[in-house]
Amino acid sequence: MAETQTTDLVVLGGGPGGYAAAFLAADRGVATTLIDSMPKPGGTCLYVGCIPSKTLLHAADLIHTAHDAAEFGIKFAAPEIDLDKLRAKGDKIVDMMTSSLLKGCKERKITHIVGHGNFVDANTIQVENGPTVTFKHCIIAVGSIPAKLPTFDIGSKRILDSTSALRLESIPKTLLVVGGGYIGLELGSVYAALGSKVTVVEMTPNLLPGVDPDLVRPLHARLRAQFEKIYLNTKVAKVEETKTGIKAHFEGEADEKEATYEKVLVAVGRRPNTASCGLDKAGVEVERGFIKTDRQRRTNVPHLFAIGDAAGEPMLAHKAAHEGKLAVEVLTGESAAEWDPRAIPAVVFTDPEIAWCGLTETDAKKQGREVKIGTFRWGFSGRATTVGRNDGLTKVLTDAATDQILGVGLVGVGAGELISEAVVAIETGATAKDLAMCIHPHPTLSETISEAAETLHGLSSHIFMPKK
Ligand code: NAD
Repeated sequence: MAETQTTDLVVLGGGPGGYAAAFLAADRGVATTLIDSMPKPGGTCLYVGCIPSKTLLHAADLIHTAHDAAEFGIKFAAPEIDLDKLRAKGDKIVDMMTSSLLKGCKERKITHIVGHGNFVDANTIQVENGPTVTFKHCIIAVGSIPAKLPTFDIGSKRILDSTSALRLESIPKTLLVVGGGYIGLELGSVYAALGSKVTVVEMTPNLLPGVDPDLVRPLHARLRAQFEKIYLNTKVAKVEETKTGIKAHFEGEADEKEATYEKVLVAVGRRPNTASCGLDKAGVEVERGFIKTDRQRRTNVPHLFAIGDAAGEPMLAHKAAHEGKLAVEVLTGESAAEWDPRAIPAVVFTDPEIAWCGLTETDAKKQGREVKIGTFRWGFSGRATTVGRNDGLTKVLTDAATDQILGVGLVGVGAGELISEAVVAIETGATAKDLAMCIHPHPTLSETISEAAETLHGLSSHIFMPKK
């Protein structure tokens, strides 16, 4: 008979949300069990998401940097790419990081169970080929999986999703990327740098729909040079496998009706992974695939909490981690704790990167909100110019009446590292004047943030603002 274990808290899913929750709970003295089907904690982010993709994006960056060095009078030969070595480097990084998380479980005396967990009822989870675990509380952190489209369901190995594309089995001569969102552009950039001729098909009028168009423009311009083609307002109506590849039939603005590609990457979004762990047996309510929660991350079954991609957009690791910690705060007695962020940062790790937090200009327009916008083009930035990359823009959105910073958007190299200052400014209720008065080091890209804020107060040295 299968073993039965009893614990205070089960965390179901060991991604950045799940392990952050389990670690904090254990640190607070809660007897904790972490159940995950992978051998070590880490989830999508570490195994098939952020970490492997950023490793490959770093490789792409090295190739671009070597290429761009010619502008500074330094010329390198064309790169020789050893795919096995690149793959091994990625695997080593993932192993180092997941091993360190496993060590973190051991240090905290968390019971780590490897296997797929299914709810039997609201207080019991059965692990496939493993024990039955009964618990007082559970944090459901089961994440998300790539969305599939029936059009591409033709049983061909040439059709990839983000997980198989990250395995980097080969560098196809030609790659069609369906979806011009985060994954399509990040992985499309990797394959293009490694030598594939990449075509991106996006069904809406813009790459990265929802992101402010002025932030997308510099990225689009650079990708136009790196990619073979970018088709907007275009859909793939049908695909068929031929001897040489996948023939795709386009509908929309593409300047060709059909074309054949060695491989196709489908990156049309992710969906919550809530259909395969028996949530109905626990009585947990799900809406459009997402687990419904209140502001304390409680589901409709009060001792069950849900966090991360499975419990709502945005599907971002750092949001999941914060929700996980909040759930632990609540279940360990912090009854006033609740989810109320003003600014969740988002970063697209393309070249240039795009990052934003808080209110976007697009959303301000939709809401009819009175805002002021201070923008600073990186052409005026000393640092951006010295590194040969002044194709950036920083903008600060403030409340028109109070000057309080509501949102910040950036496009440019290193934008992802710069956005955190904006998160702090928004969360602490800073005004644009506050930001403008904080001395930023020269010459750095961080100055673009204070200069964007300065433009709202006529203080910018680098932007001439004629008197009205
Ligand atoms: P996404 O929502 O970012 O982009 C999907 C894109 O596909 C959209 O632009 C959409 O308009 C387009 N699309 C949908 N159906 C299409 C069709 N039939 N033909 C052509 N285009 C179509 O989704 P994603 O890129 O798959 O990423 C999923 C999620 O994973 C993201 O929302 C994000 O939360 C997360 N993610 C984050 C990062 C990061 O933080 N850097 C990186 C990768 C993924």
